Amino acid sequence: SSKEHGGDHYTVFDAGMRVLTQRRMEMELALRQAMESGEITVHYQPIVSLATGDVTGLEALARWQHPRQGFIPPSEFIPIAEESGLINELGALILRQSCRRLVELGRETPEGEKLSVSVNISGRQFKRPDFVQEVAGILAETGIDASRVKLELTESVLMDDADEAVRAIKNLKALGVKVVIDDFGTGYSSLSYIQRFPFDSLKVDRSFVGNMNEAEQNMEIVRAIIAMAHKLGLEVVAEGVELAEHKAALSELRCESAQGFFFSRAVPGEELGELMRRNWKPDPGPQVS
Ligand code: C2E
Ligand code: MG
Ligand code: MG
Ligand code: MG
Repeated sequence: SSKEHGGDHYTVFDAGMRVLTQRRMEMELALRQAMESGEITVHYQPIVSLATGDVTGLEALARWQHPRQGFIPPSEFIPIAEESGLINELGALILRQSCRRLVELGRETPEGEKLSVSVNISGRQFKRPDFVQEVAGILAETGIDASRVKLELTESVLMDDADEAVRAIKNLKALGVKVVIDDFGTGYSSLSYIQRFPFDSLKVDRSFVGNMNEAEQNMEIVRAIIAMAHKLGLEVVAEGVELAEHKAALSELRCESAQGFFFSRAVPGEELGELMRRNWKPDPGPQVS
């Protein structure tokens, strides 16, 4: 009977699912082709030292320029890559391209030699048993100094199997790379939980930084995160710095580095030469008493 089979409800649901699956499969196919044809590239956003105003690092951000649909943001294609498993190949492509570009930059200018590159690693990629081996392979193949490579992980990656995550992070660090906790504050983990994992630095999510000067509460959250991170021996990078006031407030809070549209958006690899030599005059920071 129609009741047993859920009646019309299921019929509608099935049709909806079919459309969704169809669209997803199309996106997946398009993504696979995009990876092969070079439509996926890496852009780089500078990370600036608040003490010196110099660019000290770059965050690698995946970009997809579709020939007909135009720019497709990572928030759209990364989840599809994750669900389809394409993320492993995509992640390797991004890491390889980023390391290559950094090695080139080091050859081009003295400034380029000191830069680090931060690469986002998705949960599925990180959890693969041969992930550490793959990173080791890319380091060897590109000849990059491992200490210049930072891998960014989000809190969600650490949740389901903490012991396994600790083991993997230790193995990565044994290769010489740095490990960063990204988007801190958006998940459910406390700093005492984060302490179990041997991170080198922490990125404060831009949702707190974006309006820290207007919302006193956000200023206090950022202050608390920075103070506690420092107690745990972690350097702090603030994301989403859009205004000079954000930069000044973060200097005052002794935040080491910052990243955001105030400095620059992510730019294509070819435009980095000029960007690297820029300096943003440091703020006075906390007054020594
Ligand atoms: P994320 O790792 O937190 O990267 C920072 C995001 O904030 C970037 O967005 C960047 O363009 C944006 N952003 C930087 N400064 C500002 C600012 O001042 N204001 C505002 N409103 N936004 C700012 P994007 O490139 O769209 O990437 C979004 C997310 O997609 C990334 O967040 C990351 O989680 C993911 N993603 C990007 N590339 C990759 C990749 O190669 N692999 C993986 N697994 N994930 C990636
Ligand atoms: Mg990131
Ligand atoms: Mg982030
Ligand atoms: Mg973020």
